[in-house]
Amino acid sequence: MLIYDIDFPELVEIVKSWNQPAFRANQIWTGLYKNFWQSPDEFTNLPKTLRDQLAGVFHFDPLTPTLSLDSLDGMTRKTLFKLQDGRQIEAVLMRYDRRRTLCISTQVGCAMGCTFCATGQMGFTRNLSSGEIVAQVMYYARLLHAEADVVTNIVVMGMGEPFHNYDNTLAAIDRLNNPDGYNFGARRFTISTAGLTPAIRRFAGEKRQVNLAVSLHAADNNLRSSMMPVNKKYDLLDLISACREYVEITGRRITFEWALIHGINDTPEEALKLAGLLKGLLCHVNAIPLNPTTGYAGKATTRERAEDFKRVLEQNGIPCTIRMRRGIDIQAGCGQLASHQTNR
Ligand code: SAH
Ligand code: SF4
Repeated sequence: MLIYDIDFPELVEIVKSWNQPAFRANQIWTGLYKNFWQSPDEFTNLPKTLRDQLAGVFHFDPLTPTLSLDSLDGMTRKTLFKLQDGRQIEAVLMRYDRRRTLCISTQVGCAMGCTFCATGQMGFTRNLSSGEIVAQVMYYARLLHAEADVVTNIVVMGMGEPFHNYDNTLAAIDRLNNPDGYNFGARRFTISTAGLTPAIRRFAGEKRQVNLAVSLHAADNNLRSSMMPVNKKYDLLDLISACREYVEITGRRITFEWALIHGINDTPEEALKLAGLLKGLLCHVNAIPLNPTTGYAGKATTRERAEDFKRVLEQNGIPCTIRMRRGIDIQAGCGQLASHQTNR
């Protein structure tokens, strides 16, 4: 069993079944989520017998970093991890100004098959458990802790479709949110989905404070279906109405992601179409030049065309920011490092 897979009440039950006083569960939880201890040996505040019991029952270390790359500017670090079954995932730490943003994975590969995405090109292998998701955060929390620094934001935008692994993803967020443990505020998480509308509606109904981002990339069904097969199942009409419901129910703003691909979706006409689609919706567009991948022929937009795209959106009342991708030199695009490793 992986220690990060269990919630506090389950830990309390286990500790009780070992005839240990309840406060031992608090000590273990604090050790894990406040001190970032990584092995039973570090829990020197526990009796040796209990440490041995913990070591006998739980795995503490599900992720073995096999490769870490730092971007040339030193601000982005991407790490490839080997899981216990030998599969690989990646997670990224980005340092902008005072922000320390983690980008974490929820699946090995992805079943959504977006043509432009390195993870999509890999196909789907399996879901990560909640503990495997939590462990990515703990890895970087520990690393930053050693530098007297902390994680400030977590984006669920690494490998995989979080809403295709809904329960484990949300369980991981809840565990990281636990006030007696890591206590990471719900508002500092962002989940990004390719547009699984039943899950968007479920998420809306749960009225969480977690931010939602939706990967749009095209404003008409033909183009979107050609890039994102999920659009054949949940088309734009369904997607945008699910998004409108989300905003109505939660009062929260949605971020739409748009990878600008030269000559495909970066024209003023596409920007106008997008503005029409999003009219009256509490939202914001995050446009990012495409990060080219080996399996997809499209090219990144230019800065000029990106600025034009943004201008057209804003003239039509849709706020837009352009994020020039960080960490391109270390293949920090979604799934790129893992696919590069396995394809060699
Ligand atoms: N599966 C989720 C979250 C992971 S992908 C989703 O699709 O939203 C995170 C973001 O990276 C998505 O917006 C996705 O469309 C985008 N993305 C994937 N490959 C990309 C690439 N090569 N260039 C730019 N953005 C990319
Ligand atoms: Fe999966 Fe997201 Fe990549 Fe699409 S963009 S294949 S949904 S990880």
